Amino acid sequence: MAAERVDVVVVGLGPAGASAARSAAARGCRVVAVDRRLRAGYPVQCAELVPGLVGQDVAAFAPAVRQPVQRMLTRVEDGTADERAPFPGFMIDRARFDRQLVDAARAAGAECRFAQPVTAVDACGRVVLAGGGVLEGAVVIGADGPRSRVGRALGAVNRELVYARQYTVPLRAASDATDIFLSAEITGGYGWLFPRGSHAHLGVGVTAGARARLGALLAALHAELRRDGRVGRRSHNLTGGTIPVGGRLPPQGCLGERLVLLAGDAAGLVNPVSGAGIHAAVVSGGLAGSAAADRLEGHCVAGDDYAEEIADLFGRALDHALMRRRQLWRQPRPSRAALRTGWIAYPAYWTAAADPATA
Ligand SMILES: Cc1cc2nc3c(=O)[nH]c(=O)nc-3n(C[C@H](O)[C@H](O)[C@H](O)COP(=O)(O)OP(=O)(O)OC[C@H]3O[C@@H](n4cnc5c(N)ncnc54)[C@H](O)[C@@H]3O)c2cc1C
Repeated sequence: MAAERVDVVVVGLGPAGASAARSAAARGCRVVAVDRRLRAGYPVQCAELVPGLVGQDVAAFAPAVRQPVQRMLTRVEDGTADERAPFPGFMIDRARFDRQLVDAARAAGAECRFAQPVTAVDACGRVVLAGGGVLEGAVVIGADGPRSRVGRALGAVNRELVYARQYTVPLRAASDATDIFLSAEITGGYGWLFPRGSHAHLGVGVTAGARARLGALLAALHAELRRDGRVGRRSHNLTGGTIPVGGRLPPQGCLGERLVLLAGDAAGLVNPVSGAGIHAAVVSGGLAGSAAADRLEGHCVAGDDYAEEIADLFGRALDHALMRRRQLWRQPRPSRAALRTGWIAYPAYWTAAADPATA
């Protein structure tokens, strides 16, 4: 089958890929973006919490908002909850959010195709589709999530993953707070209860070694919250997924003559402590699309510039989080004090000395 040649091939149409497709197309590039999903945003594999800042980077953000949150309540082991306020953010309708980003990419002129799984990315950066079709772009953008095939072709692999499971429960009273549950039992992760009006997402994430206990940990947290009268029986929407928590990967490289850029989870742009990656995906995707356009306009160091921008924007916060994560989970059974130092809502997370072994 003859290859289809375009300026920019984007693999993945989550927040990173849709943002990349939009920004490259808006600069006049011929963009084809593919995703294996049947439609944008489904199935939802997300707790749907974003910082308020996202609104600055996504046009028409408001329709995707379900409710604002103002505070964070963190409970360490079986203690009482510590409040951090203000801790503002928004709970969003993630499917709608992703769909809006794809609509914006299409409006800018990008061709967005669903039900198109990529089966291989060869050593020359040619993108092979399940039906046998081949896409060739002068620039390839890998926005295909935590287990990115594009990243693998470049040798950039997310090796540390957190496994998450979540379902939706009725909330007994409306809430304007995100609840976080920290425990030495929830190895490498935490539990959460995030409000969405009359319901909430209840979830737990852990590292690979504790994966077999994921269901039991979630059930135990649920049972406890039911006993406390905060939530009802599990209602619906069992979901889950993997979250890369091993820090940033090199976001650019070459396959043959082609410039290859990675964005979002594919580039490891997820906070290794909180697991949040939506905002970084939107921002890095937008920058990757612009870098692709720069390259097509003859700017030969566009890839290096992109890597520098990513490091400037995200390096400090993500590297600090990675240091705290390693410091915490190196311990077989972290103490309450260590759990606090390892969580973003406590001042010690920001101020405690870096551990020389992990700094
Ligand atoms: C359970 C869970 C809860 C989370 N909760 C939050 C939260 O509350 N807040 C937050 O900020 N972050 C959260 N995250 C992380 C957040 O979802 C990601 O950081 C974000 O989705 C990254 O966007 P992305 O576009 O890089 O990747 P993705 O959203 O993963 O998009 C990648 C796209 O690539 C496609 N794809 C992958 N492989 C192929 C292939 N071979 N061929 C074609 N298409 C392919 C996928 O179908 C997908 O559409 C959560 C993650 C999980 C798993």
